[in-house]
Amino acid sequence: MRPPFALSLSAALAALFLLAACAGPRTPAPNIADADAAAEAEKQRELFAERLWRDESRLWALGYPLRAEGAALCGDDLQPSLGMRSLALQYLEGEQGATLGRLLKLSDRPQVVLIAPGSPAESAGIEIGDRILEVGGRPVKSGRSAEALADLFDDSLAAGQGVTLKLRRGTETVYANPVPRQICSYPVLLKDEDKVNAYADGESVFITRGMMRFTESDQHLAVVIGHELAHNAMEHIDAKQGNAVAAGAGGLLLDIGLAVLGINTGGAFMKAAAQAGAATYSIGFEQEADHVGLYFLARAGYELEGAADIWRLLAAENPQAIDHRRSHPTTPERFLAMEQVIAKIKEQRDANEPLLPEIVPDPGGDDENTLLPSAYPN
Ligand SMILES: [Zn+2]
Repeated sequence: MRPPFALSLSAALAALFLLAACAGPRTPAPNIADADAAAEAEKQRELFAERLWRDESRLWALGYPLRAEGAALCGDDLQPSLGMRSLALQYLEGEQGATLGRLLKLSDRPQVVLIAPGSPAESAGIEIGDRILEVGGRPVKSGRSAEALADLFDDSLAAGQGVTLKLRRGTETVYANPVPRQICSYPVLLKDEDKVNAYADGESVFITRGMMRFTESDQHLAVVIGHELAHNAMEHIDAKQGNAVAAGAGGLLLDIGLAVLGINTGGAFMKAAAQAGAATYSIGFEQEADHVGLYFLARAGYELEGAADIWRLLAAENPQAIDHRRSHPTTPERFLAMEQVIAKIKEQRDANEPLLPEIVPDPGGDDENTLLPSAYPN
């Protein structure tokens, strides 16, 4: 039994709480005109669009050289590319899309908005802002969908020869004749998520905006992109998926290389990873993605000194990952293993050897399981 004074005290507290809950604001209410609110909303959408475009531009500039120089690591997963992206107003949706369209000065005719460094588009003298009038002699009609433009390019690029583009630059009409280059066919896409995460699904690579903010250095972001490209190139996703399905767990398998940090513990995959089948492969696959990812980096000409520091930074972000070993290598293991691979690549560079990872023969001797023999040119 409670003493009577306790009852009255809790009753008094409850009354006080009710009073507090009912009390309204004590300062004068703001007086905001609708027009002012609308103008401020547009200002904020502009800020969002600017930031989004900064992220898109950075990802394009970093992803393209990794895909182009790393083509020898991607086996048959290649596509012809000019290294440029174009947008038109009708490709974008909603108010936010309209704001981005104004920021980029888009119209209903596609125009070049991104050109990757070292790309065929750059070499051919194409400029940001050029409006595309014709692709390979076929007209680009105003107001048509993104798919219609993609079809025109696909038809022209499939031949593997130069494609003639008729462009409007300001008031001038100019022609360019870029020659497509074979690059890894895994687009590197920005994911509008705050979590510090990155993943691959076998066909594409996804980098969250949280990861873009986290990786202040371009070299570290390139390490993350290279790691994810390596998952696709080494066909880990198919293998893991097959394995997880065999273990009775379905669903989309996200890369969990960074999920181990607890930043993204995801849904389907963490459950699948808990299954013995999938878990036994994860450590090996993560190590391999770190390993091959560094080759993507090296081939694109990155300085490798300090590349492994990303694991120190991620550990600082989430200390759980330092010694929390479940289905993944820990951050100290990853850091040290990457340092070893970096030393090996430096030897290869000094000896002028091709920058390709060594493939260890499958101990089972089963050719079917040999990892990616087709990844290397003959
Ligand atoms: Zn991974």
